[in-house]
This record gives sequence, C-alpha cells and structure tokens, in this order.
Amino acid sequence: MMASTGDFLHAAIEEAQKGLAEGGIPIGAVLVRDGKIIGRGHNRRIQKNSSILHAEMDCLENAGRLPSRHYRDCTLYTTLSPCDMCSGTVLLYGIPRVVIGENVTFRGPEDYLRSRGVELTLCDSGECKALMTAFIDKHRELWREDIGE
Ligand SMILES: [Zn+2]
Repeated sequence: MMASTGDFLHAAIEEAQKGLAEGGIPIGAVLVRDGKIIGRGHNRRIQKNSSILHAEMDCLENAGRLPSRHYRDCTLYTTLSPCDMCSGTVLLYGIPRVVIGENVTFRGPEDYLRSRGVELTLCDSGECKALMTAFIDKHRELWREDIGE
C-alpha cells in the first residue's frame, strides 16, 4: 500500500515530538521522494546552539547532498508553515510541493512560495497546533528567538 499524505505528516509530527523530548522546539519535517522518506529532521537550534537548524533545514541536511534533479521529485512535509529561510531553501533547490501541518501559530511567506510556483497543501492539524501552542505558552522567548523577533 502506498503511504499517504497523512502518514508522512505523522512522520513529521514524530520528529517534532522527538525535538520536544530533547528540550527543543517541537517542529518536525520529512522529505519524500517516490513515496519514500529520504530525509527527516526536527528543529535543533537549542540542542545544537545553531543559528539555522530549523526542522526543514535539519531535514534537508540529513538527506545529504542530492543531485539537483532529485529535489524536483520531492515533497517536503513540515509541521509548521516554513519561515523565510526555509522557504528560500525550498526555492533554491526547486522543491515543487510543501505539505504544511498548520499555519495558525506562525505563517511564513506562503503567498510568495505560491507565486514562485510551489504547490502548498495546508492540513490544519490539531496535533501540530497543540504542540506549538503548548510550547509557545511555556517558552515565549525561545520561540521569539527562533523566528528572529
Ligand atoms: Zn524555518
């Protein structure tokens, strides 16, 4: 049976939960090509004292160096609407589709991504929203820092 959008979003949520368990910000991502997960990651800014390891960046880094054409067959699943940095990376590598868990607690430049031809699917996931809402309530400063505020 082919894995579905829900299965891949679930894998991204598992990554977010892993991040939370490590004391990090609960955002996860997976990169899918030909129906298979080829990279997964979660936000590790706090864990790694990193300036750039948002979930999507960690996921792409973990997928390793790929031929440019491989990205054109990929879908990026992320639990939260991608920020300017992660959206820029999607555009740089020409990833054509992004599936977004939720865009209520944060909303990146979605209209710009669409204007550049990226197909976005919004899942409005209660699970994703609950993870972020609980984190932001407890750690507002860490969250502000993550989005450059
Ligand atoms: Zn980001």
